[in-house]
Parts: sequence; structure tokens; C-alpha cells
Amino acid sequence: MPCNSEFSLTLALREGQDSAGDVATAIREILRAPFNLDGNRVVVTASIGMAIYPVDATDLDTLIKYSDVAMYRAKQAGRDTFRFFTPQMNVEILARAELEAALRVAVDDDQFVLHYQPKAQIDSGRIAGFEALIRWQRPGYGLVPPQQFISVLEDTGLIIRVGRAVIAAACKQIGLWLRSDIGPVRVSVNVSGRQFIEGDLEGDTLAAIEDNCIAGELLELELTESSLMANTERTMASLTNLRRCGVQISIDDFGTGYSSLAYLRRFPIDTLKIDIAFIRDLTRNADASAIVLAIICMAHSLKIAVVAEGVETLAQLHSLQQHQCDYIQGYYFSPPLPLAQVESMLREDRRLPMVAAVESLS
Ligand code: C2E
Ligand code: MG
Ligand code: MG
Repeated sequence: MPCNSEFSLTLALREGQDSAGDVATAIREILRAPFNLDGNRVVVTASIGMAIYPVDATDLDTLIKYSDVAMYRAKQAGRDTFRFFTPQMNVEILARAELEAALRVAVDDDQFVLHYQPKAQIDSGRIAGFEALIRWQRPGYGLVPPQQFISVLEDTGLIIRVGRAVIAAACKQIGLWLRSDIGPVRVSVNVSGRQFIEGDLEGDTLAAIEDNCIAGELLELELTESSLMANTERTMASLTNLRRCGVQISIDDFGTGYSSLAYLRRFPIDTLKIDIAFIRDLTRNADASAIVLAIICMAHSLKIAVVAEGVETLAQLHSLQQHQCDYIQGYYFSPPLPLAQVESMLREDRRLPMVAAVESLS
């Protein structure tokens, strides 16, 4: 278990002596030597932040604050390293604090909206469902994509409230479609690991399904490999219960995380989504193509369906069809769209433009 203790050191450096960086390296090396604690071999690493008098500040409080900022940078850089304070770090800390404050308001004021990206079945070209993707309607900034704020929601724990709201909104939309001329549509929702560990993912999901009178089969949860590994016992129990109620379980960005294949047998998984990185190289790199083929064969032998994400070209689609991939998602078919456009797509029964095109290729 990592545990944190903080110490501060004041160094009076004179010309001709070691630099602060040399001292930091020496401290790290001494601490890194393993020692015996009650019969256990223990290793300690140090993340060190440094601020220099009088260059960075002339009063003690500011010097300590700045070295603390630099220490967090050292931790972010992977621990067991050191960083000197730079004014840029301060700018970034302030920007991050501002973003965090704006997100707290956004959660209270419900400034989030869902866009939906279709997945298509390769064989028939038909829409097989949609992935709900969050966007932040930040006043004065337009529509902010999730890469700019999801990690902050996760770090602050706000993701638990937002994640619950996303599941509720997706289930509400499924219910509205179900009772309209559109009919049953499967929607998948991205789930963060913290929702498993600290939230009540199972309770939230079952409540949303019940409140909207929809079948569990119409909802799919997309998890990452790392969130599956975070708390296996509780995660396994929650997923098994949800699966019993029909909820589909999908592994997102497959191939980029732990990739411990043992969990494919242990967890109740319906679908693997091959990460965009493999799809990007699919038609340019024989190794990527071999990995995609291996993932598809392995998944099929475990009765798991496969979605290729980030499909942008007909050549990629063609290759995935040859590899017998089941579904694709990506700009080739459609980007994530706001609700109104999704509804027209459904009403028009839009199909993946592939069969004729692929035939003309071969
Ligand atoms: P993801 O779940 O892997 O979603 C796929 C991302 O790839 C989406 O980015 C989508 O717009 C993008 N994409 C789709 N097709 C293509 C393509 O052909 N080419 C390229 N280059 N990109 C494509 P987006 O919407 O910006 O979402 C980014 C990530 O944010 C998602 O990755 C997911 O991890 C996270 N996210 C989105 N919504 C939620 C949410 O409600 N909850 C949580 N926890 N995470 C979310
Ligand atoms: Mg996803
Ligand atoms: Mg993904």
C-alpha cells in the first residue's frame, strides 16, 4: 500500500558545493535502499519538489507552497523523481482550480448534455445502438469535449454524481424512444472506476431502468480494463447482478490497459471494443492487423461480440469485415450527434454505406 508522509528540508547551498538537484538525487538513492520491517522487505521512494530563495520567493510560506506545487508535479511525473518550481506550474494550478470551481457549478446547474454516436452491424449495415458521450455546455466556452474535464470529475469524485445523472438521462431517452414511433434502441454509457468503488453503480443503474420502465437489455455499460481490476470482488458482484437483469457489459479501449485475459473468463462480459489505436494502424501495419484479428478470434471463441472503435475509412471497414468483426463505430459512419440528428437517423433507418462500396473494391 502506498502511504504518504511529507517532510521539508532547508538547504543552505554555497558555491562549489553540490547543487539542490544533486542533494535530491542523493536523498532518493538513500531512501530507495530496501529495508526490513517486521520481516517484510520495504522500499520507500521520494517525490521531491524544490523552490529556490530568492529566485522563486523571499518568504518562507511562499517557498513552502511553491515546493509543494513542485512536489505534486514530481508525483504526477510518476513518483521517485524531483522537480524545481517554475512560474508556469502556478499558472497551471490556478487554471486547474478555476476549472474545478466551474465544474462544481456545472454539476449543480446540470450544464451537461449527451451526444450519441451510432454503432453499426457490419453484416447488415444496420444501426445496432448508440454510445452516449457527455459534453459540457460551459457558459462562454461553447461545447466542451470530455477529455478536457472527465479527469477532473474523476479526481474530485464529482464523477459519481455526473455518472449517475448520465445513466438516468440515457435510460430516460431509451424510455422516450421506446414509447415513440422509434421503438427499442440500445444505448451504452461510459462508466468510471470510481462509480464502482465509491458510488452505488448497481443501485443507480437498476433504479434508472425501473423508473423508465425499460428492459435491462437496452442499456449497456462500457467499462475500462483498469476499472475492472480496481476492486474485483465488489465489481464482480455488481456486474453479475446487473447482468442478471439483462444489462450488457462492454470493455472499452480494449488492448490498452492491463489486458489480463483471465478476467475475460471471470467477469460477465458481452462485448469488447477494440481501442482506436489498433484500428488507426490496421491497414498500415501488419502487427496491428494481426492483433485485431487475434482479439476478434479470441472474443468469438469466448462468445463475446467485438466492436471496432474509431473506424474512419472504407479500407479499415473492409479489413474489419474480412476479420469478421461484428460492429463498427467511427467517423466513417457518423460522429457523435445531438439528439435531433440521432432521431432523424433512426427514423430514416440509416445504414452503413459499405456493401456496394466494398464489392467495388474487391
Ligand atoms: P470512449 O468511450 O472511448 O469514446 C470514444 C471517443 O472516440 C469519443 O470521444 C468519440 O467522439 C471518439 N471517436 C469516435 N469515432 C471516432 C473516429 O472515427 N475517430 C476519432 N479520432 N475519434 C472518434 P469523446 O466523445 O471526446 O469522448 C472521449 C472519452 O471521454 C470517451 O472515450 C470516454 O472515455 C469519456 N467519456 C465520454 N462520456 C463519458 C461519460 O458519460 N462518463 C465517463 N466516465 N466518461 C465519458
Ligand atoms: Mg466508450
Ligand atoms: Mg473507447
